[in-house]
Amino acid sequence: MKLPTQLLIDGAFVAGEGEAEKVLNPSTGEQIAAVPEASPEQLHKAVSAAHRAFESWSETTAGERSKLLLKLADAIEARAETFARLESLNCGKPYARALGDEIPAVADCYRFFAGAARTLSGPLAGEYLAGHTSMIRRDPVGVVGSIAPWNYPLMMAAWKIAPALAAGNTVVLKPSEQTPLTALLLAQVASEIFPKGVLNVVTGRGASVGQPLVEHPKVAMVSLTGDVSTGRKILQAASSTLKRTHLELGGKAPVIVFDDADLAAVVEGLKVFGYYNAGQDCTAACRVYAGAKVHDKLVAELTSAVKSIKVGLQDEPDVEIGPLISDRQRNRVASFVERALGTGHMEITVGGKLRAGAGFFYEPTVIAGARQDDEIVKREVFGPVVSVTRFNDTEQAIAWANDSDYGLASSVWTQDVGKAMRVAKKLQYGCTWINTHFMLVNEMPHGGLKSSGYGKDLSLYALEDYTVPRHVMVKM
Ligand code: NAD
Repeated sequence: MKLPTQLLIDGAFVAGEGEAEKVLNPSTGEQIAAVPEASPEQLHKAVSAAHRAFESWSETTAGERSKLLLKLADAIEARAETFARLESLNCGKPYARALGDEIPAVADCYRFFAGAARTLSGPLAGEYLAGHTSMIRRDPVGVVGSIAPWNYPLMMAAWKIAPALAAGNTVVLKPSEQTPLTALLLAQVASEIFPKGVLNVVTGRGASVGQPLVEHPKVAMVSLTGDVSTGRKILQAASSTLKRTHLELGGKAPVIVFDDADLAAVVEGLKVFGYYNAGQDCTAACRVYAGAKVHDKLVAELTSAVKSIKVGLQDEPDVEIGPLISDRQRNRVASFVERALGTGHMEITVGGKLRAGAGFFYEPTVIAGARQDDEIVKREVFGPVVSVTRFNDTEQAIAWANDSDYGLASSVWTQDVGKAMRVAKKLQYGCTWINTHFMLVNEMPHGGLKSSGYGKDLSLYALEDYTVPRHVMVKM
């Protein structure tokens, strides 16, 4: 397969004129491509093209935009294996998971927003002042600068591109410098469907391409999925031009397991939802609070379940998780675990080691005996590491779950529906699952509170975020 390396600017494919970034296969550590980043002039061209294209794209009807988004979904599905192969190669993900889980979700995201574009609703037009008719419009914002992370490159691009284009905006997408390949392939597919300039894809690092994109005066809105510290930088950079911002930042999901929970379901759930994508997921079920009676059994059974997780190369039969994205990320994860061990009161019941050999593999890990004030409970690890903390009563579990800078996702496990609902009401998280975790659907919003950011991905709420409500009043 010839790997895509060219940027899409104003309908044309061009090589980046900036410094080249090495793109690796995390399963082997080998370089698979060198992708030159956009020069400042190329970035300016991309934004200017999006700005010009906005004139006509924002005049299209919702039905016209919907038709093209549906075409894009079909085109992605038609090349599902190529997209999955490329994503798997660049991220180290098991190929079967990329093909079976991610590509269908990506196509469905474009389809959802294709439909949603035609269904926006709002208050009735009417006379709220005698002799004057008021109505609400929801209009696109303008050029959106979309900045994506490395954990689900094609899916994060879909979460940003689909609502933005559906609403009539134009987009300049900057994928992560570590994982640009599927976004560049998407650019090729999209260039055959959308008018030139509607979608532009530029590659490059945060400081040299991301920041100038945020600062560009013709960019009206910036959408980031990334780290909390990047969110802060973007807010600062956006402040000079008072841009609209949409920030999906990290998470540290609490998982409250009551004594009456179905333990087999909890263990099976944690095995999947705590370690999927090698734990590089902002909703990962990584911070378990276990009731006093169930705690020891949970730790024992989770330990043996995690031992059975098959870690390996993209195409190994039955492989469940792959490596971390980079050596740097693996060292970061390892140092969290070392510091946890260093406290003296925590125990690693399984894992806790780098896997020998090539690639950036880290063994799936369970840490028991974690206390509320421990770093491993407070900070996002973004790796295959789950901590377990014992709690004594419901109030303590709720207080500890909410005692976090993050507020993205959470779950409650109990067979008592009333208790589940009472606890869900109290949790300060953008999402609370009951007796499951991790499940996302395009119809429902995804986004955080507190340092996890603001603004919603997915659902009609995302479409609202990518539009501005406007009041038009007619004197009769
Ligand atoms: P990151 O913040 O390092 O990078 C994200 C993107 O921002 C990249 O494209 C990067 O080049 C760009 N960037 C970096 N500095 C920038 C700057 N100063 N100006 C403009 N752009 C800049 O994050 P990452 O390491 O790629 O991804 C992991 C993080 O993303 C984790 O913290 C994770 O929790 C978070 N995440 C959140 C969600 C969510 O929905 N809330 C989803 C996935 C990942």
